[in-house]
Amino acid sequence: MDKILSIVVPCFNEEKMIPIFFEKISNIELPLKKEYIFIDDGSSDSTLLELQKIVNGTKEQIRYISFSRNFGKEAAIYAGLSESKGDYVVLMDVDLQDPPEMLIDMYAHIEEGTYHCIGARRVTRKGEPFIRSYFARSFYKLINKISDIDIVDGARDFRMMRRQMVDSILEVKEYNRFSKGIFSWVGFNTLYLEYENHERAEGETTWSFWSLFKYSLQGIVAYSDVPLSIASYMGVISFVISILMMIFFMIRTIIFDNPTQGWTSLMVIILGLGGVQLLSLGILGKYVSQTYLETKRRPLYIVKQTERT
Ligand code: UDP
Ligand code: MG
Repeated sequence: MDKILSIVVPCFNEEKMIPIFFEKISNIELPLKKEYIFIDDGSSDSTLLELQKIVNGTKEQIRYISFSRNFGKEAAIYAGLSESKGDYVVLMDVDLQDPPEMLIDMYAHIEEGTYHCIGARRVTRKGEPFIRSYFARSFYKLINKISDIDIVDGARDFRMMRRQMVDSILEVKEYNRFSKGIFSWVGFNTLYLEYENHERAEGETTWSFWSLFKYSLQGIVAYSDVPLSIASYMGVISFVISILMMIFFMIRTIIFDNPTQGWTSLMVIILGLGGVQLLSLGILGKYVSQTYLETKRRPLYIVKQTERT
């Protein structure tokens, strides 16, 4: 019997891209049965309509899930993976930034048997603002240093995985999902194929600089407790400094009879310490809020409609 490849595609306001994407991808010849799973992540344009059109216009095996609102790409990925039935599953963006031709190579490598996952890694960030690539690179360096997961610079969500790895990813049921971390956390052997960055074919990216920044912070909080220790380090350092200063001022007063006139120095110390304390509280707050959201155990997404309803 033929093996099945599930193609999981999250879409958020992608009415223009869906027909183009489907046309491209269905022309890729693979010795597998293909199964498509599109997730409409609460789009406000006619993404759902476009999905229904392609379902009605082809004999290929297509399913879709439409969310009741925008739950984010991470939730869409989870939904797609849990609906997938294939022996292999590939995650793809609909904007053709993940070149469909690569499926052929990915399939060849995964079929060899050594690897559970074949990922794609951009070696250039051509067409991306400089400051954005700079921050992205620094983020990867930082998170690899302060956590025990390893995220490859430039690795995308675009990857073909064996069933076994997909099932392990589905086992990770946390609410605040950071897929790049989860892919690395579950382990298994991953091979990265390199490719040149492609610009989005139509439409616009929904990621602003700010949302990427928040996403990175979330990744750090989810996979590292180093920021928590920073608070205690800062406490120790300011304690040591205060002891040294106390000795210094006592000697100066006793031996040299030179009491400090100190409005300025006092203000500096009060403001400095206050700042450190607020920062530490803020860091602590981030972790507490993540715990809070996890304990609510809300569903990751809510389905409004599928191709069966
Ligand atoms: N996406 C989604 N939900 C969102 C945002 C994006 O499902 O809330 C999808 C989007 O339709 C696309 C993919 O995730 O298929 C990647 O999005 P985008 O191209 O905006 O991100 P970038 O390529 O810039 O990282
Ligand atoms: Mg994109």
